[in-house]
Amino acid sequence: MKKLSVGIDVGGTFTKIGLVDAKGNVVHSLQIPTEPKKGPLNFVRRTVALLNGWSFGSVGLGLAGGVDARTGTLLFAPNLKGWTGFSFKKAFEKSLGVSVVVDNDANVAVWGGYAVALKKRPCTVVGVTLGTGIGGGLIIDGRLHRGATGSAGEIGHQVLELNGPRCHCGRRGCLEAYAGTYGIQRLARQFMRRPPSPLTPKAVADAARGGNRGARKVWDVVGARLGQGLANLILVLNPDAILLLGGVARAGSLVLDPVRRVFASQPFREPFKTVVLAAPSDRDWGVVGAALLSRERSSPVLGRLLVKC
Ligand SMILES: [Zn+2]
Repeated sequence: MKKLSVGIDVGGTFTKIGLVDAKGNVVHSLQIPTEPKKGPLNFVRRTVALLNGWSFGSVGLGLAGGVDARTGTLLFAPNLKGWTGFSFKKAFEKSLGVSVVVDNDANVAVWGGYAVALKKRPCTVVGVTLGTGIGGGLIIDGRLHRGATGSAGEIGHQVLELNGPRCHCGRRGCLEAYAGTYGIQRLARQFMRRPPSPLTPKAVADAARGGNRGARKVWDVVGARLGQGLANLILVLNPDAILLLGGVARAGSLVLDPVRRVFASQPFREPFKTVVLAAPSDRDWGVVGAALLSRERSSPVLGRLLVKC
């Protein structure tokens, strides 16, 4: 078995491609525009041309949307319009001659964080990717849980407030409408007298660390809403750990302290006392996770080890 695998993280605007070793280190990487309008076949051809000369044993692909992981087909993707119904697994395997796995981008990112940052020790993990949108991945008994239609883990779209702010999914009051990038921007406009420009979560975090009261209030609300969403999942799944990934997790204690306060106020004590809150330093978890997942799937020995958590 070749030691290296390729991980490809396909977003609506950019695609990150990395050559990843067995420990999850990215030894070589590049980024290309996704250009969804040119169609999925054009994307496959451009990517395959870039991999020419690389030596690898498997490929993993994370797509921003709903994915049928068995056939490697994209089922639903607001940011990759025109790509649905296309089997990326089939197209890449035909061109590259190696085993290819395809999954949702949040699922592969959570798998990367689980394998590298948590070393696969906990059995049950709720993973959250915090960015423009809020994605999620569930690991149950050491395996990615996809659900009946591959749609499990849509953590960002649990409704926290019936008449809350509008979410990009069209409904109101989803977790993402508070703690996704656009939710944070809305709160910053609401609470800060002079919101920073450009208005990014990092700029709001810097202002909060500099003592800006409005900015601190923004993070208190973001953390409280995130805590509320996570508390729902903790009551359902009783996980060993919560894994927070993505740019917003860089806000550190600004967002984690209010999450912890929500946990401390819960009437059902046990699951909240034991759960570990992990926010590892930011990396291209989507690239890392896609590559590691493909490596494990392509090896029957490693695949069997997956059940040992
Ligand atoms: Zn939503």
